[in-house]
Amino acid sequence: MSEHGVEGRPEPASTVGRLPGATGGFSTRAIHAGQQPDPLTGAVAPPIYQTSTYKQDGVGGLRSGYEYSRSANPTRAALEECLAALEGGGRGFAFASGLAAQDAVLRSLLRPGDHVVVPSDAYGGTFRQFARVAGPWGLDHTVADLSDVDAVRRAVRPGRTRMVWVETPTNPLLGIADIAALGEVAHRAGALLVVDNTFASPYLQQPLALGADIVTHSTTKFCGGHSDVVGGAVVTAARVDVLGYGDAAEQVAFCQNAIGAVAGPFDAWLVLRGLRTLAVRMERHCDNAEQVVAHLSRHGQVAAVHYPGLGDHPGHEVARRQMRRYGAMVAFQPLGGKRRAVDLCGAVRTWTLAESLGGVESLIEHPGLMTHASVAGTALQVPDDLVRLSVGIEDAEDLIADLDQALERTAS
Ligand SMILES: *Cc1c(COP(=O)(O)O)cnc(C)c1O
Repeated sequence: MSEHGVEGRPEPASTVGRLPGATGGFSTRAIHAGQQPDPLTGAVAPPIYQTSTYKQDGVGGLRSGYEYSRSANPTRAALEECLAALEGGGRGFAFASGLAAQDAVLRSLLRPGDHVVVPSDAYGGTFRQFARVAGPWGLDHTVADLSDVDAVRRAVRPGRTRMVWVETPTNPLLGIADIAALGEVAHRAGALLVVDNTFASPYLQQPLALGADIVTHSTTKFCGGHSDVVGGAVVTAARVDVLGYGDAAEQVAFCQNAIGAVAGPFDAWLVLRGLRTLAVRMERHCDNAEQVVAHLSRHGQVAAVHYPGLGDHPGHEVARRQMRRYGAMVAFQPLGGKRRAVDLCGAVRTWTLAESLGGVESLIEHPGLMTHASVAGTALQVPDDLVRLSVGIEDAEDLIADLDQALERTAS
């Protein structure tokens, strides 16, 4: 079929899902899925539909189904279609933040009294959401080491566990969970497998193809990729009809609108812009991370380096099977304990001391005092001499030289 319709007219917008661009390889989908040139003007970049409402042609006469921007907005719809295409899912949903996306998953698919297995090495905000928001709402959870499939099997409560929540690689210790194996454990118990794919991004890891039912993202991180937007996403498998709650996509769609924590048009546009370069950014992120890891592993002032690409990492074999490459997140423990770790974070020049991750610029932080301060004293507490790196896409030699001078200056 030609690019234009049989009579030489442009394809109507509703056929975009069948255009080759929406179904090709990863980068082709990232650049074209949901992003056909604007039918009215030919604008190549998707327009930012900064509008709350839409003119109706007579009562109920909606144009292309748009009624009110909490329910649907064309810029957000473009992002949602692209996200679904990149994760190989049935439907995508864009939210105001990663935590808003997670909240929508919990409240759309679970009910008070249900039980969830959560990772012992999760994003601090995720654990806080389970413990202090979902808990008082009536959700019960058990913390388990998800790198240990038997531990998850033991944590599952037959008849009550409705969800196994997976993060892999984990934050901040870069633990690896076997998505396919955990999917079997969850499904045998009648539970859904949800994977927070934030650290890997859809480019490095495809949880739905490995058996997960739902993928979540903080698009604030690698998907957006430029540290200029906060956002979240949910992608559901092509069809999930489990647990007596009906079609998961329908339930999430209902909660997205009924709770209302949607991505605004400009935020959706920024994430979509980020997704177009995700593949090339991730390749460069991984190149740089591998060089930083190789250097730190040889460094006499470094006691331990945590990176799933290292042959002696306990999750290396699983990561090799389920990831394209090993990502841009690195954690390490310098000699000299907590004091040295904290001082290092303040001694860098090219790296930026900041929370968050996944942007083009390299970030350094102390999880114990920063991102994971909220889990101090819980099962999720992290070593106090741990330093976390989000390796950006600058020149690797500059990143390495800066770490060297910081290690040098903080030597006791
Ligand atoms: C940042 C992050 C979240 C939370 O996302 P927000 O966009 O900050 O709400 C969830 N999971 C992981 C792994 C994260 O890194």
